[in-house]
Amino acid sequence: DIGIAANSSICRLAPPSVYAPGTEAHKYSRGLVAVVGGEMAGASLLASHAAARSGAGMVRRIAADAYIGGPDAIVTDFAKTATEVEHSLQDKRLAVVLVGPGLGRNKDAQARLDVVLKSGHPLVLDADALNILGEIGIAHLPQQAILTPHEAEFTRLFGQLPGSKIDRALDAARRSRCVVVYKGAGTVIAAPDGRAAVASHGSSWLSTAGTGDVLAGIVASRLAVMRDGFQAACEAVWLHGEAARRAGAAFIADDLIERLPEAIASRL
Ligand code: AMP
Ligand code: MG
Repeated sequence: DIGIAANSSICRLAPPSVYAPGTEAHKYSRGLVAVVGGEMAGASLLASHAAARSGAGMVRRIAADAYIGGPDAIVTDFAKTATEVEHSLQDKRLAVVLVGPGLGRNKDAQARLDVVLKSGHPLVLDADALNILGEIGIAHLPQQAILTPHEAEFTRLFGQLPGSKIDRALDAARRSRCVVVYKGAGTVIAAPDGRAAVASHGSSWLSTAGTGDVLAGIVASRLAVMRDGFQAACEAVWLHGEAARRAGAAFIADDLIERLPEAIASRL
């Protein structure tokens, strides 16, 4: 039970109006997004490509894997140590930092996450970043980040909370002072100020590897051009669901990324 009947002030997620870059736009005004990964390339690559295909002006992947792509719009900063990550994050032009997909969970990963949490940039936290925070506690979270947990990550972070899925998402948002995107069939987006939205349009074909990494990348690119994390998360969840609808059946996460430009074009 998601809990939508119990609380009538909750809105169902509406199709957003996405803005097109103005005539004055340049790549930095559309948002430079950094994706901090670890030693495994796949998940951070999916998130990076999703950010690039959902409107980011530029994406810089900061990772320690040995991936060598072809000519590619995604730049990779090879950063093995936390100090190297810190150096890469000192770029003042960065609009948003996403951390988690492909980060890993060992001591190195924790050191890299620590540097990101202290960087002062607007943050999106997913996957292994949430798993590590589940161990060290949410007291280490900066305010006003966006968290995108699935059920297991949510429980690790916040424990077993009572009430409907909406109640739990709102409680988690208040406790963490972050926007929480509580994923799964019927995704709930909740903000610390009490706003909540429910997305029930998502395709059950989304239950496949990498789709969460794609969502995290979209959230990052939307946040890069919006002040309001709740609005950015709502827009991202809608675009992700729409890309899935357009991808049809038995798609993989890579296919979703290809559908993002047309999902955006439908809302300009
Ligand atoms: P993750 O678990 O991090 O890989 O994320 C999976 C993504 O797919 C999230 O955006 C979920 O909301 C979505 N998803 C997974 N299973 C379903 C389902 N059965 N119905 C709708 N969406 C789903
Ligand atoms: Mg995930």
